[in-house]
Amino acid sequence: MSEVIDGKKFADNLCAELKVEVAQLIANENLLPCIAVVLVGDDPASHVYVKNKVLRCTQLGIKSIEHRLPMETEQAELLALIETLNQDDSVHGILVQLPVPKQIDDKAVLAAISPTKDVDGFHIQNVGALAVGEPIMVPCTPLGSLMLLQDTLGDLSGKHAVIVGRSNIVGKPMALLLLQHHCTVTVVHSRTKDIEEHCRRADILVAAVGIPKFIKADWVKSGAVVIDVGINRIQEEGKSRLVGDVDFETVAPRAAAITPVPGGVGPMTIACLMYNTVAAAKLQRGL
Ligand code: NAD
Repeated sequence: MSEVIDGKKFADNLCAELKVEVAQLIANENLLPCIAVVLVGDDPASHVYVKNKVLRCTQLGIKSIEHRLPMETEQAELLALIETLNQDDSVHGILVQLPVPKQIDDKAVLAAISPTKDVDGFHIQNVGALAVGEPIMVPCTPLGSLMLLQDTLGDLSGKHAVIVGRSNIVGKPMALLLLQHHCTVTVVHSRTKDIEEHCRRADILVAAVGIPKFIKADWVKSGAVVIDVGINRIQEEGKSRLVGDVDFETVAPRAAAITPVPGGVGPMTIACLMYNTVAAAKLQRGL
C-alpha cells in the first residue's frame, strides 16, 4: 500500500505553528508581520488566489493589505506603488499576483521588489542566492514540495530526483533546492528525449508540467516517492474536476508515497507564503 501524502494536514500544522510564532512576535517584539498583495486586472483565477492568501493571513494573525489596480494600469504606476511598499517599514512582504496585464513587463516588476520583501522568491537576487546554496527567500511551491519530501523520506542525501518541467517558478528552483539537499538531480522538459527512461530511474519524481495525467504508471520505479505539482481542470463524465500531472489511480499503487491533487502540494504553497512572510518580518528586524 502506498502512502498518500496529506499536504493539507501538513500545511494546517505548519500554519498552526506559524500562528503561535506570530502571536509571540507581536507580544514579545512588537512585530506584526505584514504582507502587501497587489492584484492588477480582473483575471478570475488570480482573484481566487488572492482571496485564499488573504484568508490564510487572517487565520494566522498576519496583517494583509490588498492593492487592487485596474486592468489598464501603466507599468510606471505599478512600479511607483512597489517603491512605496519597499520604503514602508511596516510592510514585510510584497506579492504581485502574476500574470500582470500585457502592457506591464513582469520581469521589471519582479526586479523592483526589494529582495528581503520578495516573499515569492522570484527576484533575481533570491534566485542567485538559491543557486549558490545560500537561500534567503525560496519560491513557495518548491519549498512546500521539499518540506513534504523531507517529512516522508527524512534525509534526501544521495537520492536520484527527476524533475519534469523547467519553469522559473517550479522546476528550476526545485532542482536547486534538491541539489542543496544532496540529491542527484535530473531535469527533463519538452525537448528531452526518452523522458520515460529518465523518470524510471527516479527515487523522487517531481511533476510540474501542466499536462493532465502526463506521468504514467510504467514511468515510475516501484517504491519511488512522487510529488505532483500539477493543477489541471478537466471535464470527465460530464463533470469538471482537478487532476494533477500524474495519473494518480495507476501510479499510486507503484509509489511508496504520492501527493494527491487536490490536497497535496497546493495547500503547501499558501502555507509557505505565510512561512516566508514571517521569515521576512524577522529578517528585516534582525531576529
Ligand atoms: P510552465 O508552463 O511554466 O512550465 C511547464 C514545464 O513543463 C516547462 O518547463 C516545459 O518544458 C515542460 N513541459 C511541457 N510539455 C512537456 C512535455 N510534453 N514533456 C516534458 N516536459 C514538458 O508551468 P509551471 O508554472 O511550472 O506549472 C506546472 C504545473 O504546476 C501547472 O499544472 C500549474 O498549474 C501547476 N502549479 C501548481 C502550483 C501549486 O501551488 N500546486 C504552483 C505553480 C504551478
